[in-house]
Amino acid sequence: MTEHSSNKSTLLPAISRTEALLGMIACVSIILIFAPKDWIQRSLEIYPQDYEAVLTDDTYSNGNSEAIWLDADKQIWQCRMGNKFRSPYCSMRLSLFDDSWSGLNLSDYDTMTIWASYSGPSDSLRFYLRNRHPDYYQVGDDTSTKYNMVEIPVEQLDTGFTLSMADFNVADWWLVTKKIPLEKSHPEFNDVVFLEVQTGSQATFGDHTIRLRKVLWHGHLFSDETLYKGMVIAWCVLIFFLLLYRMIHLKLELRRNVKHQQELVAINKLLNLQNKQFEDLAKTDQLTGLLNRIGIRDVLYDGLNNWKERRTPFSFVLIDIDHFKQVNDSFGHDVGDQILKLTAKLLAENIRRSDFLARWGGEEFILVCPDTDLYQAQVLAELLRKKLEDAPLHPERQITASFGVSALSTPNLDDLFKRADAALYEAKTQGRNKVCAVADTDAD
Ligand code: GH3
Ligand code: MG
Ligand code: MG
Repeated sequence: MTEHSSNKSTLLPAISRTEALLGMIACVSIILIFAPKDWIQRSLEIYPQDYEAVLTDDTYSNGNSEAIWLDADKQIWQCRMGNKFRSPYCSMRLSLFDDSWSGLNLSDYDTMTIWASYSGPSDSLRFYLRNRHPDYYQVGDDTSTKYNMVEIPVEQLDTGFTLSMADFNVADWWLVTKKIPLEKSHPEFNDVVFLEVQTGSQATFGDHTIRLRKVLWHGHLFSDETLYKGMVIAWCVLIFFLLLYRMIHLKLELRRNVKHQQELVAINKLLNLQNKQFEDLAKTDQLTGLLNRIGIRDVLYDGLNNWKERRTPFSFVLIDIDHFKQVNDSFGHDVGDQILKLTAKLLAENIRRSDFLARWGGEEFILVCPDTDLYQAQVLAELLRKKLEDAPLHPERQITASFGVSALSTPNLDDLFKRADAALYEAKTQGRNKVCAVADTDAD
């Protein structure tokens, strides 16, 4: 069961709908080439009784032949052929007009089959398909129809005699009488208005009994060549449209991919931005907006590395607000927060552009001074102390801070901290609002 379903899923996507369609059309093409072509054939069958019939004979030409109906309903007629006229004859003429006076168009048929009964002394009968053509037809003159004629032996008429439409010729006497030019003397079968059965040219004296039973024309709707041409054109058109469809499809897919890619790039940008924001947030102290311990860490390591590599001086100031607990106790925690913010702002405004200020925790700040020796740091700390002392951060209470300064003299940040802390402790001990520095020890 599992094997069956997995086979199905790997086979199906391999055959696209277009390929299935092409396969189907290829099969149809092969069938069209090799299958019997009956379906492209056409035929026309007429029964004489369905048409008006008229008998004529040579009495118009002073002959003594006589055409009479033996059974008019069944269209059985007889020619009592005389020998007075030079070319004696009798004939039966069917009018093939339809209601709009148009004749039959037999141009596209290849063969004609005639079923008739004959008894008499003659070996053959003549058949005419008489058509009208504007070049030679004159209204009211039935003899101006072209006499397309064929003469056929009588013995096969009973079972149906098939002849090719190419067997017809235009009767010589008509061409001569009507003075038809040579280029118009070929048989024509469009607008055939009369079908005429006439006694044979080898006129034989005696009685000829004739009955025309059925006529069938047969032909192809189109030739094999036309069929193959049509198939080739159909294939070309199909391939053209398939290629066009593929091209449009690929273009749309490309456009979709580009759009998708642009969306991904935009999302990526947004994520990078968010990452940066989170990173900044993680390095920033929320209350004061200064760097926090994490944020200042890289600056400390940079200073240490620069000192190690080039002995670039690197100093460090710990700042601790004096008696801050009392501030909180006296004015409340919110006022304490406000003073922390104002202190941070004041310190930040008065340091150099190359210095870094961070909140170390609680009411303590750290000032990192790259490329600065102990003395320069001390001067800077003194400046800051004075600024703070003079700043009216609170209307009722003067805010001051103690400063512990140290400079890097060993490749050890812990040592630097310890000494700055010791200096700060010294400043506190000396009565606060002081700057103390611990001189370099163990200078390398
Ligand atoms: P000293 O002069 O010896 O430094 O005295 P001090 O009172 O400043 O020092 P202590 O370490 O005794 O007290 C620090 C106080 O700072 C205690 C704490 O409530 C307060 N504090 C720490 N962080 C904050 C803060 O974020 N906001 C406020 N409002 N107070 C804080
Ligand atoms: Mg403290
Ligand atoms: Mg304090």
